[in-house]
Amino acid sequence: MVEPSQPLKKCTLCGRELNRVDDPLSGDCGGDCWGCIGEIEADLGWEESLEAVRKEHEAGLRPSWVERKP
Ligand SMILES: [Zn+2]
Repeated sequence: MVEPSQPLKKCTLCGRELNRVDDPLSGDCGGDCWGCIGEIEADLGWEESLEAVRKEHEAGLRPSWVERKP
């Protein structure tokens, strides 16, 4: 349920506010944040997402992320 009067969209998975300039993982991926979507895609083996998530993990943005080894 989306309220039109509400300016901030939030991730449907984790509740993070989307498109925050101070949060690099908050990009809007169709209603969910990149923080969630990136990890899901990385888990699914999407190379581009995996590489981006890996870099973000190394940069300290995803401290709890663990790369799933095949
Ligand atoms: Zn999220």
